[in-house]
Amino acid sequence: MAIQLTQKIVQQFQLHGEKDYPHESCGFILGQWTNNGTEALEYVPAENTKDENRERRFLIAPNAYQQVEDEADKKGLAVISIVHSHPDHPDEPSEFDRVHAWPGFSYIIISVAEGVATQFRSWRLEADRSSFIEEKIIIKGNN
Ligand SMILES: [Zn+2]
Repeated sequence: MAIQLTQKIVQQFQLHGEKDYPHESCGFILGQWTNNGTEALEYVPAENTKDENRERRFLIAPNAYQQVEDEADKKGLAVISIVHSHPDHPDEPSEFDRVHAWPGFSYIIISVAEGVATQFRSWRLEADRSSFIEEKIIIKGNN
C-alpha cells in the first residue's frame, strides 16, 4: 500500500499547516484507488472545530465530513486521506489520534515547527485498531 501525492497537494497542506499555526490544521484529500494504494487528486482544507486546546487536538464536524464526501461523490472520487498538523510535535499519531481514527483512511500528519512545516508522514490504522502503521508516500509531478 502506498499513497501517491502531487507536489501541489503537498504544498497546499503544508501552507495550511503553517497558516493555522499554532493551532492544528486539518483537511481532506480526495482521490482514487490504484493497484497498490491510492492516488491523491485534490486537497480540501477543513476548519478545526474544536473549541479548546486546538494546539493539540483537532475535530472535524460530522457535517463537514458529510459535505466533503458528497463533493467527492459528485466528482466520482473518494475521500482517501485526513490530513492534520502537529504544531511543535513530531509527525507521529498521538493516542488521541488513534482513539479517534477511522479505518480505511490515510492519516497524513504534518510536523510544523515554530510555524514552518518541516516534515510529514502517512499512517493507516491497523484493522484491530491497536496501532498505526506507517504508509509509503510517493510524490509525483507538478500539478
Ligand atoms: Zn494528531
